[in-house]
Amino acid sequence: MISLVIPVYNEEVIIDELLQRSVGTMEEIGEPFEIIIVDDGSTDNSLKKLLEHRARDARIKVIELSRNFGHQAAFTAGLRRSKGDYTVMMDGDLQDAPELIADMYAKMKSGHFDIVNGYRKSRGEKGFKGLMIYFFHKIFALITHSKDVEKIGNFSMLNRPALEALKQLKEKTRYLPGLRIYVGFKQGFLDYDREIRKEGKPKMRFRRLMSLAADAIFSFSRLPIKICFYLGLAGIIVFFIIGLVMVLQPDTFSLTKDYRPLLVGLYFLGSVQLAFIGIIGEYVFKGYKESQNRPMYFVRNEYVD
Ligand code: UDP
Ligand code: MG
Repeated sequence: MISLVIPVYNEEVIIDELLQRSVGTMEEIGEPFEIIIVDDGSTDNSLKKLLEHRARDARIKVIELSRNFGHQAAFTAGLRRSKGDYTVMMDGDLQDAPELIADMYAKMKSGHFDIVNGYRKSRGEKGFKGLMIYFFHKIFALITHSKDVEKIGNFSMLNRPALEALKQLKEKTRYLPGLRIYVGFKQGFLDYDREIRKEGKPKMRFRRLMSLAADAIFSFSRLPIKICFYLGLAGIIVFFIIGLVMVLQPDTFSLTKDYRPLLVGLYFLGSVQLAFIGIIGEYVFKGYKESQNRPMYFVRNEYVD
C-alpha cells in the first residue's frame, strides 16, 4: 500500500483539484492506497470540504488537529498515522504535482533506493522571498555538508524502514527535509520543476519561513556558536597585542586626545556580545523547549477507518 500524507491549512479553494489529481494518480499507479490529509487547524471550509470528499471515498482519511501547529508538526501527525509500505510527503498547494508520484514510485520500485526525494531543478518562488530561500538552502547545505539538501523540500517517498527511522527522531524542533537526509539509507533524487502555488495565499508567511530556517540551522549545527567562539578568540588576541603595545610603548596611542573611537569600540564590542548572547540564548531556549517535552500537536478528531 502507498500512503500519501498532505498537510492542509486554509486551502479550501485548492482541495477539490488536489484530491481529484491525487486520487487520479494513485489509481493510475494501481496499488492500494490511502490519502491522509492533516487539517492543521484551518479556519475556512477546508475541513468541511475534506469530509465531503471522505464521505464519497473512504480511502481519503482526515486527521483534524486541535489548532494550527505548523506545517512540520502536521506532516509529523500524518507520518505517524501512515500504514503504507511506501509513504509520500507532499505539500497541499499543488506546487509539487501529484502526477510525479508515479515517477517516484517507479524509481522506488527499481529497488536501488529507500528514499526518493523530489529534486527541484527550479523553484516557484521569485523575488525577495526566492532569494532568502536560496540563501537558506546554501547555508543549510554548508552546515550539513550535503549538496543534496539544497534542492529538496518535503516532496518525497519513503519506504517502511526509512519511515520508521525518521519517526524515531523525536525532537520537537524539526526540519523534516534535513532529518530525511540525516537518517541515511539509500537516497535517490527525482528531478522536477517546482511550480508556483496554484491558488490561495502562501500559508508560510515570511516570519514563519524565517523561523523554520532558524529551526533548521540551529537544530543541525553549532556553527553559530562556533562563530561566536572564534570571533571572541580573535578579539582576545588582537586586543591583547594592542594592550601589550600600549604598556610597552605608551606613546604610540595618545588616548587623551580623542576618546570617541574608544567609546565606539566599547559600544561595538558590547553589541557583539549581546548578539552572541542572543545566539546562545536561542540554543538554551531550544533545549528548554525540548525538555518541556510537550506534544508537537493535539488531534481533535480522526476520520480514518
Ligand atoms: N501548511 C500547514 N500548516 C501551516 C502552514 C502551511 O499545514 O501552518 C500547509 C499548507 O496548507 C500547504 C503546505 O503546508 O499545503 C505548504 O505551505 P505553503 O505552500 O504555504 O508554504 P510555502 O510553499 O509558502 O513554503
Ligand atoms: Mg507552497
